[in-house]
Amino acid sequence: MIKRQYAGVVIDQIHPSLDKLFHYTVPENLSDQIQIGVRVQVPFGHRSVQGYVLTLDDETDVPLERIKPIKKLLDPGPALHSSATSLIFWMKKEYHCMFIEAIRCFIPPGLRMNMKKKKQLVVVLEDTDCVDEWIKKVESRSPGMAAILKILEQNESMLRDELLDLSGASQSSIQSLLKRGYIRIEEEDTYRNPWPIAQIPTKSPEFNEEQAAASKVIENCIREGKGTVLLRGVTGSGKTEVYMRAAELALAKGREVIVLVPEISLTPQTVGRFKGRFGNRVAILHSRLSLGERYDEWRRIRSNEVQIVVGARSAVFAPLERLGLIIMDEAHEDSYKSEVRPRYHARDIAAKRCSLDGAVLVLGSATPSLEDYYKAIQGEYLLIEMKNRVGCQTLPQVEIVDMRLELEMGNRSMFSNALYQALKHCITQKEQAILLINRRGYAHFVSCRSCGHVVKCRNCDVSLTFHVREDALKCHYCGYREGYPRICPECKSKYIKHFGAGTQRVEEELHQLFPTVRLLRMDTDTTGRKGAHHKILDAFERQEYDILLGTQMVAKGLDFPNVTLVGVLAADSALNLPDYRSSEKTFQLLTQVAGRAGRSSKPGRVVIQTYQPGHYAVRHASNHDYSGFFQRELQIRQQFSYPPFSHIIRVLITGEEEKEIVNFSKNMIQWLEKRVADNRLLQEGLIDLGAYPAPIERIKNRYRWQLLIRIRTDEKYLQAFHHLAEDLNKEFYRDTLSAALDFKPLSLI
Ligand code: ADP
Ligand code: ZN
Ligand code: ZN
Repeated sequence: MIKRQYAGVVIDQIHPSLDKLFHYTVPENLSDQIQIGVRVQVPFGHRSVQGYVLTLDDETDVPLERIKPIKKLLDPGPALHSSATSLIFWMKKEYHCMFIEAIRCFIPPGLRMNMKKKKQLVVVLEDTDCVDEWIKKVESRSPGMAAILKILEQNESMLRDELLDLSGASQSSIQSLLKRGYIRIEEEDTYRNPWPIAQIPTKSPEFNEEQAAASKVIENCIREGKGTVLLRGVTGSGKTEVYMRAAELALAKGREVIVLVPEISLTPQTVGRFKGRFGNRVAILHSRLSLGERYDEWRRIRSNEVQIVVGARSAVFAPLERLGLIIMDEAHEDSYKSEVRPRYHARDIAAKRCSLDGAVLVLGSATPSLEDYYKAIQGEYLLIEMKNRVGCQTLPQVEIVDMRLELEMGNRSMFSNALYQALKHCITQKEQAILLINRRGYAHFVSCRSCGHVVKCRNCDVSLTFHVREDALKCHYCGYREGYPRICPECKSKYIKHFGAGTQRVEEELHQLFPTVRLLRMDTDTTGRKGAHHKILDAFERQEYDILLGTQMVAKGLDFPNVTLVGVLAADSALNLPDYRSSEKTFQLLTQVAGRAGRSSKPGRVVIQTYQPGHYAVRHASNHDYSGFFQRELQIRQQFSYPPFSHIIRVLITGEEEKEIVNFSKNMIQWLEKRVADNRLLQEGLIDLGAYPAPIERIKNRYRWQLLIRIRTDEKYLQAFHHLAEDLNKEFYRDTLSAALDFKPLSLI
């Protein structure tokens, strides 16, 4: 066999000119250890830099006199797990990112920074045969030394601090024993523990019919080592138990598991349940861990000490070698999408990874994204539905309150009479309530408080965005604009304005209505510090508070048996975001938050306040009617050629000089138009193309424009536009401007 002698190395620095494989020779003394995926030190110019070996080749284009040897191997084994390299090549094509950007997804920063491992001292007995004799020698003079030896006789080795504790001896006893050569001290790696809360072990319950059926389907997939399952189960239908059973099945087959949750801090209960069921076999990965914690959890995974990884988005890159199952809880959540390069969606990485590793993907949600559900009914995914809550609980009764009528009746408060009465009842019964203020879209749209009319674009089915600077309303899909209306174009009322209500204002009003109520607020202001979520939710669970008031954060995954009332203020505020997904997001949010009520024997009640009681997203959510909503929304998407009936490609351009980015955007459009005109495939595939200021025109002093390219869904068109995008990246790279290319943007804001 010919020895492959040229290592293709990616340099660990982010710069377009370095975005390729550089060949190095493998020195004789390293030839057994250099494999694909190892981290190495290589000479580069006059410096020495870190890099990763992605290929081993027999031939090279580099002239032999210029090629240099690898200097050093940095870790004992490959830093990248075996299927990572294929994923990295795939990500580069799919996301138009640099090699190194893809590689860094897999590597904890602590490794690259050569972070120190945490060490502790272990005392080891030198010779077990002599220990009785030694004890006799020291017993009379030093009880401490004798005590240490007696403990070591039982245990052979022990952490130094524990040993001192147990024996009651002093440090000097250890020194004397060392001098005599009876013991030695070794350093041992320890891991920082990111989840210090002790978890009570639990056992799997007896499954009901729906759970058993779901479990069966997943079990078959695991046996075959392939398949994507969409598990749509109403809130409280026992999905988490199904996930845990699936994990057990995979473990029993010797395979490993990744469990993805939208955001660890928002779903401590789910994480806790996995820890409770699987204990030390679970590692936790997410971005709020300290660098040290993250590095240590990664090392535990890499060295096969754990079999289950629970984590947020980035955990999909966990370095497991025998992956058999990926579970994605609340798979519809937007936090699975990365908004920094590489702009991946964890579901797409998971799907690719499962197909490489022979693993099964389970997507779970009470409200699957339209895209996922569409794939399921098209037969691309296996669909399992769990329509009933566990036990005999029913889904809560939902009441819609028309806030226009409240205003007519002279109620100018943020609380309708119905919600006020419900809160009062709840408090006197010593039960708890959750109040959601939907602040997404705050002050972006303009609506009439008398008739509910929302000002929309005349060309597109999206609401117009209010731009304070120009005192104008604009459509960011087609560029249409009009002046700020002084009266409602529908009913001539003058109560037309952009609006929203912050959590603080609601808090003040609640205190006026119920002076003695114990009120807990959860929003970005109160949850800044690490662990803050946990504290808030724990206090609420211990029933130290009557009402939990918050933004989106309170809608997700919480399971509190004493919560019998859920109230939603301004249900429609997200309906009017300039986004084709705004109805879907609203439906999901309302369904999720309604699911927080009535999760035990006490029945639940939900009050939704809205200015648009007739909107289909609100109506279907109040009837717990997912498929009704799905049918209606799908029709609208088809009518307006929105995803899944088209792909939207977005290029976000930002820079400090407004004029510069406007010109840049215009040049880019011209370049694109010309390329499309020259190519039949691109021409056929294109639906429309345009450059507009982004709805939020400036963030952190950078001006923002975006190019939106809408194309047909056939694979051949998609590939053609991927090729085009590659050229666009090269043509338009600038140091001062940033052009972010996104083939599946979730947000167009
Ligand atoms: P979901 O994830 O769909 O919201 P969970 O798995 O959290 O549902 O289940 C809701 C509640 O019912 C939890 O408290 C869970 O422990 C309990 N539960 C789930 N399955 C069963 C079962 N088969 N028997 C008894 N209790 C169950
Ligand atoms: Zn009106
Ligand atoms: Zn428009």
